[in-house]
Amino acid sequence: QTPARFHVTDAAMMRTIYQPRQPFAHKGTFGHALLVAGSYGKMGAAVLSAQACLHAGVGLLTCHVPQCGYLVMQISAPCAMCITDPQEAYSAHFHEGLSPAEAVKYKTIGIGPGLGTATATAKALELLLEQYQQPVVIDADALNIMAAYPFLLSRIPPGSLLTPHPKEFERIFGSTRNDFERLERLSQQATQLQLYILLKGRYTAIACPDGAVYFNATGNPGMATGGSGDVLTGILTALLAQGYAPKAAVLLGAYLHGLAGDIAAARLSQEAMTAETIIDCLGPAFLQL
Ligand code: AMP
Ligand code: MG
Repeated sequence: QTPARFHVTDAAMMRTIYQPRQPFAHKGTFGHALLVAGSYGKMGAAVLSAQACLHAGVGLLTCHVPQCGYLVMQISAPCAMCITDPQEAYSAHFHEGLSPAEAVKYKTIGIGPGLGTATATAKALELLLEQYQQPVVIDADALNIMAAYPFLLSRIPPGSLLTPHPKEFERIFGSTRNDFERLERLSQQATQLQLYILLKGRYTAIACPDGAVYFNATGNPGMATGGSGDVLTGILTALLAQGYAPKAAVLLGAYLHGLAGDIAAARLSQEAMTAETIIDCLGPAFLQL
C-alpha cells in the first residue's frame, strides 16, 4: 500500500477550485438536488440542511420528508420544493419517488440529517442505493444506518462523500487506539470503498480514494453546536449539484463551512453563534473566495 499523502487546504487552493457563475446561466445549470432528511422531533436538521444547500448555490432543491415535516419545510424553506413520505413520523418510502427514470433528474442526493434509524428507513435507503448510481452525500443517521447494516457501505456509489463525526466514524469503522491509527483507518477505508470520507473535528481530515488526505484549517469551537454538521451536508450537496467534481466539492465545502463559522464567530462570538448563523455567513464566505 502506498503511504497516504498529507496536505493542508488553504485560500489559494480554494480560488483554483471555485467556479464563478457564468452570465448566461439558468437554474438548470446549477443542478436539481434531492435532500432526504428529517423525522419527528428532528425536522430542524432537515431545515438547516436545506437552507445551507440553498445558500450554497444549488439550482433547485427538493426535500423528501415524512408527513409531519411538510408544513415545517414549506414554511421554513420556501425556496425548496417538498415531497412527503406516506409515513407520518419518519421516512420509509423515499425510493418510490425515485424510479430509475425519475432518478436522473436529480444531479445528486443528500441523505441523513435528522433522518432517524427506523428499520423501514434503512430498507428505503437500501433501495435508494440500488437505483441511484451518481455520487451522493451520506451523513448523520444515514451513517448510523450504515453502522447497523455494514453491507450497505459497499452499495454507496463510488465518489460519494461521507461526513462522520468521530462517534459516527467509530460506529461504522470501529474504534482505534489513537489519532494516528484512526487516520490510517480513515485513509484505508476511503481507498477500499472508493469514497471521500470527511472526518469532522477541529482539523477536519478528508481522505480521498487515491490515498491522499487533506486537512481543513478553517472553523472554530463555536461550531461545536447542534446543527453544524447538517449545514455542511447542505453545502456539499449544493456543490455536487452545481457540477463540482466530488474532490473539489468536498475540499471547497469543508473550507467554506469553516470560513462561514469563523465569520459568524467574529460577528457574534463563539458562544452566541448557532448553526443558523453559519448559514447566514455563507454569503460573506463566498465573497471572501
Ligand atoms: P456535527 O457533529 O455533525 O454537528 O458536525 C460538527 C461540525 O462542526 C463539523 O463540521 C466540525 O468540523 C465542526 N466543529 C465542531 N467542533 C469544532 C472545533 N472545535 N473546531 C472547528 N470545527 C469544529
Ligand atoms: Mg451531524
